[in-house]
Amino acid sequence: MDARMQPDRVPLVDLRAQYEAHQDEFDAAVQGCLARSSFVGGPDHEAFRKSFAAWCGGGDVALVGNGTDAITLALVELLRQGDGSGEIVTTSHTFIATTEAIAQAGYRPLFVDIDPHTYLMDLDRVEAAIGPNTKAIVPVHLYGQMLDMRRLRAIADRHKLVVVEDAAQAHGARFDGAGPGMLGHAATFSFYPGKNLGCWGDGGAVFSRDAALIRRIEMRANHGRMEKYLHQFEGVNSRLDGLQAAVLAVKLRHIDAWTKARRQVAAWYDELLAGDNRVRRPHVDPRAEHVFHLYVVEVAHRDAVLQELNRNGIGAGIHYPVPLHMQPALSHLGYAPEDLPLTRKAADRILSLPIYPELTRRQAERVARALLDAVGAARP
Ligand SMILES: *Cc1c(COP(=O)(O)O)cnc(C)c1O
Repeated sequence: MDARMQPDRVPLVDLRAQYEAHQDEFDAAVQGCLARSSFVGGPDHEAFRKSFAAWCGGGDVALVGNGTDAITLALVELLRQGDGSGEIVTTSHTFIATTEAIAQAGYRPLFVDIDPHTYLMDLDRVEAAIGPNTKAIVPVHLYGQMLDMRRLRAIADRHKLVVVEDAAQAHGARFDGAGPGMLGHAATFSFYPGKNLGCWGDGGAVFSRDAALIRRIEMRANHGRMEKYLHQFEGVNSRLDGLQAAVLAVKLRHIDAWTKARRQVAAWYDELLAGDNRVRRPHVDPRAEHVFHLYVVEVAHRDAVLQELNRNGIGAGIHYPVPLHMQPALSHLGYAPEDLPLTRKAADRILSLPIYPELTRRQAERVARALLDAVGAARP
């Protein structure tokens, strides 16, 4: 049977549930934008830009076309366009957008293995990786958990490196009280629909406490101009639509409640899976405020478990099945799989369970039961 036909199917994410819960607010926001017909720039864009900056902790924000461009634009403005020889320290355990942006900016990624408990770049290994050609560090706050940015910034400062935080999965996360962009030179966000704060298409943002940097990024993302037909340099076209800004302004009013709901779902899974040592639950650093973009467990015979869950109507997934250092697209970097053994090992065992703010206790129970059944039945 097609899993989508099962009445008690639990998807990985449920965007429709969110639209239906707040349909009147969304429809009014879209109608307002249509009535004003300011589709690029304009009042919806400006209103969301200001409120998102305040929500990030009081800096400045450039709204751009997507989260990948946000990283590229921040790197180019902080470092200048590279010639391909400079290195940027980052993680192989992330979505390919992180290194695509590094390449677009004219740099090459230098991968550091992960902390096997948090799956984040291992800060104990960063300093040894830094060489004479290293220009920047791009940490990724994966799954909704931030790295220790105080520690990372101290390393970067010792070596005079720029830090751009990839916070595409970490809207509202904190570490020791500081959110993305409070300690790095800039933090970048994605508003792809499935992210914790997502629009209805592509969108992204750069947040920084450096207002002059943000103005330069805004110019670069808008054809290098300050006035309509006066261009200071040749930029690119990477802008957030007015309609997307209108949708995001509605969602920003709910994001803190949604984050709380995500944490509740995570707490249910923690409780329902506790005491079964066949499933390793997410490790949250006591100093971190995790926003649970994803709830990732580790199991043996992962592919068999995933197949059984999917067959049973549970929309589990893998983030990500092939680490970047093992991707055909990045073979020119010359990494062998075992160069990053902890990254390679995690990729074979991780499994993302359904998580979204509207997920109910009953659904969490169904997912946990299905997972424990699948783990019991799985054979290599
Ligand atoms: C989604 C994502 C991006 C890219 O965002 P887009 O808006 O899809 O370009 C970058 N990094 C990470 C870790 C992501 O999850």
